[in-house]
Amino acid sequence: MDELKDTSTSEVIACENCGCPCPNNQKFCSKCSFPINGTAEEKNQFKAKVSGHKFLAKEAEKELKKPRIIICVLAGIVFLTGLYQGLANDDFVTMIVNLCISLLYLILAAWANKNPFGAILTALIVYITINVINAFVEPLSLFQGIILKIIFIGAFIKGIRSAKDAQEHLAELEKMNASTLGNS
Ligand SMILES: [Zn+2]
Repeated sequence: MDELKDTSTSEVIACENCGCPCPNNQKFCSKCSFPINGTAEEKNQFKAKVSGHKFLAKEAEKELKKPRIIICVLAGIVFLTGLYQGLANDDFVTMIVNLCISLLYLILAAWANKNPFGAILTALIVYITINVINAFVEPLSLFQGIILKIIFIGAFIKGIRSAKDAQEHLAELEKMNASTLGNS
């Protein structure tokens, strides 16, 4: 027993989880906090925690599909409405404004792949702002397609929450040095 203790102070082992070299006398890996000298149960608990975060991050990312589609649908609706106003009603101001908003939605849809939290939040703010401005100009417009509006806003809010969840789980995985989502 004594012999083991003496040598262990200088011995270096590779962490099972992240592979970084750790002194054998410490219980946790200094980089990823894997219990290198813990019991089998403690090691399994750590691994279960990693797979738990991976699972939840994937689930949260799945939830981001819907708000992304809605942003594209909004881009399409705004584009077609603008085109109609311009071509059928000679309302070119509305047409140009709508084409710009449509372009903005497309940019947000593309940005959502990189930063879903920022992009969906911005899309929600843009969407609500446009509806408020429209309501000032034409109060009745607020009630046009009200159910669809509620569904869109609900999906955006849910998407913002999912994006935040995914960020948090990925941050935990990064701490545990297991940020790659690919391997289960
Ligand atoms: Zn480690």
